[in-house]
Amino acid sequence: MKRHSLPLLSALTVLLLAVAAAVFWILDSHLKDIERYTAIEYMAKKKAPGPVLPHDLVFADLLKGINSLADYNSVFTGSLSLRPRAPKILERIPTNENAVFLTFDDGPYADGDGAQVGNARLLDILAEKRSTGTFFFQGPWALKNAALVKRTVAAGCTVGNHTYHHPPDGCSMGPIPCGERKKLEGLDHTWQVREILWCRVALIRALDGDITGLTNYFRSPHGSGVVSYPRRPASPKVIQCISDMGYIIINGDERLSDAKQRVTKRSLLKAYRAGFRSTAPGAHRGRILWLHSGLRATAEALPEIIDLLQKKGYAVRALPASRE
Ligand SMILES: [Zn+2]
Repeated sequence: MKRHSLPLLSALTVLLLAVAAAVFWILDSHLKDIERYTAIEYMAKKKAPGPVLPHDLVFADLLKGINSLADYNSVFTGSLSLRPRAPKILERIPTNENAVFLTFDDGPYADGDGAQVGNARLLDILAEKRSTGTFFFQGPWALKNAALVKRTVAAGCTVGNHTYHHPPDGCSMGPIPCGERKKLEGLDHTWQVREILWCRVALIRALDGDITGLTNYFRSPHGSGVVSYPRRPASPKVIQCISDMGYIIINGDERLSDAKQRVTKRSLLKAYRAGFRSTAPGAHRGRILWLHSGLRATAEALPEIIDLLQKKGYAVRALPASRE
């Protein structure tokens, strides 16, 4: 080896290490961004207390005896029953229509609940743009704002399950204990069943038992257990638990998600313009857009996002009715 190649080799090694560190840092901060900033976490940071209302306490009482689906079936007649089912996870909806599917997680929030924007604003925008969406609600908010759950369905939108407590950041909400403060995949099977079941019960109560508009779609808080990240693969146990309860798991397009810290109207619109650039016929057919209730940036960007999609020939819809 020539004398001058040694320093060159060390310089190259340092450079390679620096590039590897930079790549790791970018991936890591991306993951943290995705996980960090839901509306619920926003409120948790503001230390807004969870709603505890008289009907919430009645609900807690009712749930004392409901810890399994067999208990549930003894109280409610519904389509849910616990039996082994082949898991179904949708990242995109198979469809021949020129449609994209709009989903919102969290809430429903009334104005004054501490969220940046209430759900009424989202429903107004959807009505104005003759569009619909699927809303994945959380137990205590659905109970507190039952009128909003009903209004969502009356507007032609549909409702899915986002767990009762939104573990771990919604654990202080409502009077019902939260098991352990872990994400869904960290909970034991019984608590996973409870979180999904109790949300279902809360939604049925919020709708006064009229389950038209209630779907068997499930969106996991933080994508826990169902979305594969580079350093955190999906959990077959969580997927099986959700599936055995009769739910279809809805993931979606994370690149177009608003679950990032410092998301702004501008950054969202920029992402959507880039994400929908392809003009090939049907290129975006069936894409599932993953947004959140409660965020100002989302409400501000939504009218222009829908305009953009409609101009490209796509209808903006709630997820199609699910069949078991
Ligand atoms: Zn959420």
